[in-house]
Amino acid sequence: LMARLSTLKDLPCETREGYRISLLGNIEFPSEAALCLDRGLEGVGLYRTEFLYLTRTDIPTEEEHYEAYREVTIAMGGRPVVMRTLDLGADKLSMIPQPEDENNPFLGLRSIRLALKHVDLFRTQLRAILRASVHGDVRIMFPLISNVLELRRARMVLADAMEDLEERGIAFDREIKVGMMVEVPSAVVMMDRFVEEVDFFSIGTNDLVQYALAVDRSNKDVAALYTSADPSVLRLVKMAIDAADAADKPISMCGQMSGAPLYTMLLIGLGLRTLSVTPAAALEVKRVCRSTTFEHCQSVAQRALELESARDVKTYLREELQRLL
Ligand code: PEP
Ligand code: MG
Repeated sequence: LMARLSTLKDLPCETREGYRISLLGNIEFPSEAALCLDRGLEGVGLYRTEFLYLTRTDIPTEEEHYEAYREVTIAMGGRPVVMRTLDLGADKLSMIPQPEDENNPFLGLRSIRLALKHVDLFRTQLRAILRASVHGDVRIMFPLISNVLELRRARMVLADAMEDLEERGIAFDREIKVGMMVEVPSAVVMMDRFVEEVDFFSIGTNDLVQYALAVDRSNKDVAALYTSADPSVLRLVKMAIDAADAADKPISMCGQMSGAPLYTMLLIGLGLRTLSVTPAAALEVKRVCRSTTFEHCQSVAQRALELESARDVKTYLREELQRLL
C-alpha cells in the first residue's frame, strides 16, 4: 500500500474533474518541514510554535525563536508557512507558571489568554516571526480566539512588535497576513464579525469538538463522546465555512479531522479547499481527493448533514469511503 501511495506524492491534489484542493502540513518542530516536502505538501498550514517551549526548562530568547522560524521558512522555499503563536497551557504545560487553583485548565488561562497575560513573551515571539517573514511567505495565526476584543488585543501586541523592529531598523513583511483559529464555538457564532478583522481562518477541530460537546479531549473516561462525527460539529464547521465564503475570506482546517480520510469527502463537500494535515496522513487524504468528484463530495456532505447521531455519520462515511477505494 505504501508503494502505491508514494506514487501519489508528485501528483496534484485534485478531484477527478480537476477541482484543486491545497494540502498543507501540521508541524511541531522545524525538522518536520522536510517531511512536508517529502510528502508533496504545498506549505505548512499549522506550525505549533509552542513546542519550542515544551522541550526545555528555560524561556527561549528572541534569537532562538527566530532561528527556528527562519529554518522552517527557508526550508519551505517560498511556500506558505502559517505560524501559530504560543498555545501553551491546559494539555501543553511549560515553564511558564500556571495558576495552581485551576479547576478547569481547558477553560482557564491557556493559549491566547496566557499569551496576553505574558505580553513580553508574546511580543518577543511576534518580533521573531516578523523577522522570519523576510525569508518567505510567513503568516501569523492566533489560537483560541473567543471574542473580538481578544483578537484586537492580540493585534495590538503585534503592532507593538512591529514598532520595536522599526525602531531597531530591522526588516519585516509589513503586509504579513494575520489569521485566527476557529476552535471555540463562540468564534463560529461570531464569524460575521471576525471576517472584518482577519485575513484568513483555520478551523481547529481538536478544540472545537471538545468545547462544542463539553468533552475533555484528554480524558479517557469520556473519549467515546469525543468525536468529529457529531452532527453538531458538522454544523459548526459548515457555519464557519459559509460565513468565511460569504466574506471571501480563505478558510482551512488543521485539527485531526482534516487528516482523517474518513472525513475528506465531507469536508470538500462542505466547501473546504485547503486542508492542513499531519504529514503522515497526506497521501491517504490525497488518494481520496483523486478518487472522487466534487459533485459526489457535495452529495456526501448534504446527506451527512441530515443524520442525527455521530454513529450514523460514521457509519455513512465509512460506507462511502469503502465504496470509493
Ligand atoms: C486544534 O485545536 O484543532 C488544533 C489544531 O490545535 P491543537 O491541537 O494544537 O490545540
Ligand atoms: Mg487547539
